[in-house]
Amino acid sequence: GGSSQYDFIVVGAGTAGLAVANRISEMKDFKVAIIEAGDSVLNNFNVSTVSGYGLAFGTEIDWAYQTKNQTYAGGSAQIVRAGKAVGGTSTINGMSYTRAQSEQIDALEQFGNQGWNWESLLPYYKKSERFQVPNSDQVSRGADYYIKYHGDEGPVKVGWPKRLTPSDVLPVLDKTFHKLNISYNRDVNGGSMVGLTSHPNTVDSDANVRQDSARSYYWPYEDRPNLKLITNTRVNRIIWSNKPNETVAIGVEVTGIDRVYTIYAAKEVILSAGSLRSPGLLELSGVGNPDLLKSLNIPVMVNLSSVGENLQDQTNNALAYAGADVWFGSPTFSVLPSAKQIFGKEVSTIASMVSDRLEEYAKNVSELSHGAVKADNVLEALKFQHELIYKSQVPFAEIVMLPISNSFSSEYWTLLPFSRGSIHITSADASVPAEIDPRYFMFDSDLSAQVAVAKFIRKAFGTTPLNTIVGLEFAPGLKTIPSNATDATWQGWIERQYRSNFHPVGTASMLPREKGGVVNSKLQVYGARNVRVVDASILPFQLCGHLTSTLYAVAEKAADIIKKDYAN
Ligand code: FAD
Repeated sequence: GGSSQYDFIVVGAGTAGLAVANRISEMKDFKVAIIEAGDSVLNNFNVSTVSGYGLAFGTEIDWAYQTKNQTYAGGSAQIVRAGKAVGGTSTINGMSYTRAQSEQIDALEQFGNQGWNWESLLPYYKKSERFQVPNSDQVSRGADYYIKYHGDEGPVKVGWPKRLTPSDVLPVLDKTFHKLNISYNRDVNGGSMVGLTSHPNTVDSDANVRQDSARSYYWPYEDRPNLKLITNTRVNRIIWSNKPNETVAIGVEVTGIDRVYTIYAAKEVILSAGSLRSPGLLELSGVGNPDLLKSLNIPVMVNLSSVGENLQDQTNNALAYAGADVWFGSPTFSVLPSAKQIFGKEVSTIASMVSDRLEEYAKNVSELSHGAVKADNVLEALKFQHELIYKSQVPFAEIVMLPISNSFSSEYWTLLPFSRGSIHITSADASVPAEIDPRYFMFDSDLSAQVAVAKFIRKAFGTTPLNTIVGLEFAPGLKTIPSNATDATWQGWIERQYRSNFHPVGTASMLPREKGGVVNSKLQVYGARNVRVVDASILPFQLCGHLTSTLYAVAEKAADIIKKDYAN
């Protein structure tokens, strides 16, 4: 019984949480506790199996968060998956290791976060990484890289699965996409992402097991005497000191296996519960929109209406073809086309059509937030995003090419939707799920974008030589979507079939407070003395890469910031 005293509490043993906890615990004088709602999955087959993507979905280690009915996207609710385990979502994800377009990381600084840019984050991407140079067999199947972009001493093993798709597939893709003006990109992780690539994964190539954040940052270090993992324990809220005029966290209230109790932190509470939990934990602790907090009888500690706003996710659809061949091995091919490559000659017309709508979009977002976010701030972000897409020509979509067994399918998502949603608690009871509203396809340009990419994929599969290794399209199929189908027909299919791309970000954005930020550039929550957020919530904009590589880099940088703050 009794209570325990630590220096730092990390809430959530997830992707970023374990990374930041590991590095803080390098300071031997500081006791670090990590509190996790889930359990160890070290021996869970659904986690370790490299070709087992999807096996863990719907099991006890998937939070399977439900959204509100999606008004703009056919009306039904969506499931947003996230890992409930030591290792968090990195234990159930697709393991793709792709970082970001350098301009997107530079934008963090342009929007007011001093010290956050591609050049300064690259050393942290590398610090987290242990790149496994592919062997000659993997190289012959398409594994490729520039060694200068990779680190070899970090905890996260990055490389290619042991058994890759046969070597004749990549040349077929290369020739095909060349005809569609898309060239080959040897290494998607150098900040320049457009092209066809065979990206690495977070995988232990020799052992051929998933390399999640627990296998990287926790299990090899579990004997550290100052690092304590507490599992099967849900954090309910931050406990504040009762000193007047100061918002000082002294610990967290938790629900353990059989009781509710407090765990104390002498220095800091770090929230790493993920984009769909950290904002709710702030609200449960009295940090958020005063109107909401008062309606739930939660005492207001910090008036910070931006908490839980600015939710950004992507939408995923799939096309599939019968294989003219049978393929064994794991594919890691992605195509990342720019807007110009998708729209061709139409691109400038489309750019100006979208541009003409941005002011209205920003106004809508602000209105739906009841003024919690300011239209001017949204507009600035949307304009910047438009520039990235149509001026910088960053990747517009990711198209994953999946020749597996006797079919060749393709999942894709548009990378930078303009829609903005929110997540808010609906009860002061921490066991009640929050209301998640990503507002998928809130703006018609997002839906048109999703259509344009589907048409592009169909075109690619009809182009030689890719069309010689596949047979009939069975999803959506020509019966559902004839070759002369209108955009409205495509839109209907997308609304029926889409799912979340499981990349929620932005709900506790790192931005200046007056621009809608929740945390400053040291990841400290505005208005609180000693609370930080270190997870996907802090990314103020969506990225063109998958998220874990960047989250590891963010956590590494966060740990250095924290170490510096406590150095004396
Ligand atoms: P998480 O890793 O989700 O960590 C949050 C942790 O907090 C969890 O362990 C959770 O159980 C715990 N927690 C939550 N609430 C509480 C509470 N109240 N008390 C205690 N603990 C709590 N990214 C890639 O890079 N490559 C991919 O291929 C890829 N594919 C994906 C496929 C799927 C199906 C999904 C769901 C995501 C995918 N992603 C991918 C995205 C990426 O995995 C996530 O963005 C990332 O892991 C999120 O990290 P995080 O640290 O923000 O949160």
